[in-house]
Amino acid sequence: MGLINCCSDAGAGAGRLARRSVLSGVGGLAALAGIAGCAPSGTTPAPAGTTAPSAQPPPRGKLELVLLGTQAGPPIEADRTGIASALIVDGRTYVIDCGRSAATQYLRAGLTLRSLSAIFLTHLHADHIADYYNFFMLGGHIPNTHKDSLAGPIAVYGPGPAGGLPAAFGGGQAPTVAPPAPGTAEMTEKAHEAYAYSTNIFMRDMSIRDPRTLSQVHEIALPEVGASYATTAPPTQPFPVMRDDRVQVTATLVPHGPVFPAFAFRFDTAYGSVTFSGDTAKTDNLITLARGTDILVHEAISVEGANPNPAVLDHMLQSHVLVQELGPIAQKAQAKKLVLSHIGDLVESPINIDKWTNWARQGYDGPVTVGQDLQRFVIA
Ligand SMILES: [Zn+2]
Ligand SMILES: [Zn+2]
Repeated sequence: MGLINCCSDAGAGAGRLARRSVLSGVGGLAALAGIAGCAPSGTTPAPAGTTAPSAQPPPRGKLELVLLGTQAGPPIEADRTGIASALIVDGRTYVIDCGRSAATQYLRAGLTLRSLSAIFLTHLHADHIADYYNFFMLGGHIPNTHKDSLAGPIAVYGPGPAGGLPAAFGGGQAPTVAPPAPGTAEMTEKAHEAYAYSTNIFMRDMSIRDPRTLSQVHEIALPEVGASYATTAPPTQPFPVMRDDRVQVTATLVPHGPVFPAFAFRFDTAYGSVTFSGDTAKTDNLITLARGTDILVHEAISVEGANPNPAVLDHMLQSHVLVQELGPIAQKAQAKKLVLSHIGDLVESPINIDKWTNWARQGYDGPVTVGQDLQRFVIA
């Protein structure tokens, strides 16, 4: 662990992590050999988004978080890829959300498809699922040049059907695509059907594995708290999602405008915990879930300079949290570190990292990192 200390997070609260050190850096799997974020002498660290793949095996005996993509929202931007994260525990990988380019970023991070154990979807907005089916359609059969493909089947945990659709914002009518509100299982099934021709050709031409055998979808059962698409996130205690020999995953319902269900997830391991807010407005449900977590990965938006009218701003704040209001959330949750991901700035791209960091520090005495694509953090 000595080399890891060279990269210790210099944030104000790092010293409070008595039993564990939380490290961050933008770099390849070389980071995990003890040089996280620290380039070997005489070299330059790879900038975000340009990390070369590494043949080194995933780490053992620690918990690692990789921000595969950090962008909020569907627009295709050049400087960030869509929201997706990975946790690596004892060599097994768990993916949280599959935004645009998630499958490519996964490989860029040096992770192997055969190490993928499970995928978790916080909700079914397009920016969280854009690359979901690519893991199966492209990563599931013909091995890449590193002879890597999914071991499969991959467990998928995601929302069930919403049960209905809300009225159009501002009144009026909106067209409806059918089925109107598919959950994760039907979404996956329809994807199999949508890409059937390619699958059928490849199964005849190259004897590929049937993509339908590569996933096991579990729609997350909701607790009896009276939640529905009309009441999306009533007070909820954390409830179990899955458990294996490496991770215990719990969830809560979070308010994300009209989206239902929308989840925050907490992963507890022998080495520490990471909590993902998902997309959410301010809610005590998240604070309860995240209490004492080692890393809180939280979404944030900035509207500074955009000057939205009050009605539009109010509508946005039913779905998201202003970056200036993040600090008190992390403080109240007693999170040991705050990492921003799912970053949305209505005015600037790329964002001003220093400005965002200072905003997020307000009201929080722990360390803050405004996340970048392929940035990694180790709890050891
Ligand atoms: Zn989103
Ligand atoms: Zn969303």
